[in-house]
Amino acid sequence: MADQLIRATAADGGIRIVGVVTTRLVEEARQRHALSAVGTAALGRTMTAGLLLASSMKRPESRVNIRLRGDGPLGGILVDAGLDGTVRGYVDNPETDVPATPQGKLDVGAAIGRNGYLYVVRDVGYGYPYSSTVELVSGEVGEDIAYYLATSEQTPSALALGVYVGPGGVEAAGGILLQILPKAARDESLITVLESRMAELSAFTAKLREHKTLPEMIQDLGGDLGLTMLPGNQLVRFHCPCSRDRMLGALKMLGAEELQDMIETDGGAEATCHFCNTVYHSSSEDLAALIQDLESQRSSEVSS
Ligand code: ZN
Repeated sequence: MADQLIRATAADGGIRIVGVVTTRLVEEARQRHALSAVGTAALGRTMTAGLLLASSMKRPESRVNIRLRGDGPLGGILVDAGLDGTVRGYVDNPETDVPATPQGKLDVGAAIGRNGYLYVVRDVGYGYPYSSTVELVSGEVGEDIAYYLATSEQTPSALALGVYVGPGGVEAAGGILLQILPKAARDESLITVLESRMAELSAFTAKLREHKTLPEMIQDLGGDLGLTMLPGNQLVRFHCPCSRDRMLGALKMLGAEELQDMIETDGGAEATCHFCNTVYHSSSEDLAALIQDLESQRSSEVSS
């Protein structure tokens, strides 16, 4: 099944359900950043959560940034996801390894750390972005995001995030989010319904591994609640908008003196994009051209 996102509603539109499969894009992140297994699970869960959070936004250019900062060896995690289905992200220490849990599972909570903060920034495409911070609950990502949604966005939510890493890479990844919509937020019976789905949600990763499809999993979750699947599966993918031109633009901001110094001491410059790990090289000639640009800008400013 290709990486994709599916939306549905239930309980007369009082509950919103979103499911996403992210197996390929999490594997791409693993390869790009040379992530350890637990690093893959941590970043994969956060990227999956980013796509789920972005899915409820309105304007096409809307984006969500999620930053997790715990006291574990993985350091920070940063993810940027859009309503357009693109996502990118990185962790500070991709090679981090921690012992598995007694149940033999990847210990994401230990890698991220259980003490720290979750920051979420929603850029709705106009005005100032909305940002909010909560303390980490467990460092397992899913619980932390659910806590954020319930407290900062006052949206009672249940979610499951799963990344299964085998010896050859990511075998299954994805997530499902159930939310009570604001118009139904005072309906106590819906909270009970949400709680009753927790057991079903906890089986999510196992179902992913069995390669159940998203519609099947959503059916299992809300089939008895008057489910309406919304048309149009959306493809999702790892994508970073960085480019050689953007990198050169950033270098230019350093100014002529700094660029001249780079030519003389390093014979060029090398820059790595944190988000996708692409390395951009620029030669002495590239840097000299930037200096020339800066100088011709200055002389035109002087003469005008
Ligand atoms: Zn990039």
